[in-house]
Amino acid sequence: MADKKRHFETSAIRTQTDRSQHREHSVPIYATSSFVFEDAEQARAMFADEIQGNIYTRFSNPNNDEFINKLCALEGAEAGIATASGMAAMFISIASFVKTGDHILASRSLFGSTHQILTQLLPRWGITHTYVDIHQPEQWEQHIQPNTKMIFVETPSNPGLDLLDLEWLGQLAKKHQLLLNVDNCFATPYIQNPISWGADIVTHSVTKFIDGQGRTVGGAVLGRQELIKEVKFMARHTGPAMSPFNGWILSKSLETLAVRMEKHCSNALELASWLEKLSEVESVKYPFLPSHPQHELAKKQMRLGGGILTFELKGGIDRGRKFLNALEMLSFTANLGDTRTICTHPASTTHSKLSDEERAVVGITPGLIRLSVGLEHVEDIKSDLMQAIEKSS
Ligand SMILES: *Cc1c(COP(=O)(O)O)cnc(C)c1O
Repeated sequence: MADKKRHFETSAIRTQTDRSQHREHSVPIYATSSFVFEDAEQARAMFADEIQGNIYTRFSNPNNDEFINKLCALEGAEAGIATASGMAAMFISIASFVKTGDHILASRSLFGSTHQILTQLLPRWGITHTYVDIHQPEQWEQHIQPNTKMIFVETPSNPGLDLLDLEWLGQLAKKHQLLLNVDNCFATPYIQNPISWGADIVTHSVTKFIDGQGRTVGGAVLGRQELIKEVKFMARHTGPAMSPFNGWILSKSLETLAVRMEKHCSNALELASWLEKLSEVESVKYPFLPSHPQHELAKKQMRLGGGILTFELKGGIDRGRKFLNALEMLSFTANLGDTRTICTHPASTTHSKLSDEERAVVGITPGLIRLSVGLEHVEDIKSDLMQAIEKSS
């Protein structure tokens, strides 16, 4: 566990696994499925949980431990576990705490697969949920039932970029003795620390800004020791373990998270301000623009505005599609949080199965473009956006 007095950047770099006998400066990859026991007594004590140590990579591995120890230091969490994907993290962070007959309260705008877990998978085991409109905070308390166990939210939401007040949610969860689970993937620990506002569990798809270079798929669940013990039990016996290679990459990624997020955010703020002034642009949404309806809340709970912004071109769905086809440099792909700027059109791709009304509820207008702002020079990003805006008119 990191020294609490250290700053974010230092914890991200200096939280390290012990050196091996080779005295390496940078941690090697522990590509091994199991670890040898010193003797029969040590093996017995490890299996009895009397002493800690690596037994088998499905349970733990030095690379994944280094990665998760760093992430815990950055989120202010006591303990955590790395998983093979963000969705494995979402699933075990919920499944470890609910049983048949329980109920989950969730914000309506959730990542697509999390929505599928709540609506298609958990009901098979008799676990129900209620969605609450992110814009109707008074509804949250009304929908808490005697069997409610957890509140699950994402803030900022995807792709609506609406915010939920984490301090208020933390108090609500405490008052009703519910577990507050926050998917902090969009913000990253550099920008927002839900645990400091009262969240019990923080989940991540580390595939996005934490990897930051589009190389791996991974996830993490963080929280208090006694909660993570439950999650580790489920993970040990169901097997969503991260590979040591990915743990090694992701630990390296955390070393540059602060500088990368500073640049993602400064590029995003500059682009958002620039787009807002263009006559062809109907509207722009970005938490750190004064025009964002929850700008004050953004300033309160977020260090910076994040790497994602959305804008609406005049001309609706056809204009949006023409615009995407006219891009020359920017990527048109389903990921986000990469060094490369990525454009998506939610109405015709990720959210195409929803009706117009359902899309409107989560803030997706027909011509909405989501931009995951990368680390290219901001003038080059502007040039490509500008030529595509002109070509699509
Ligand atoms: C991508 C994403 C996930 C899923 O993560 P994977 O690593 O793709 O499994 C979950 N939540 C949010 C907010 C995401 O953006």
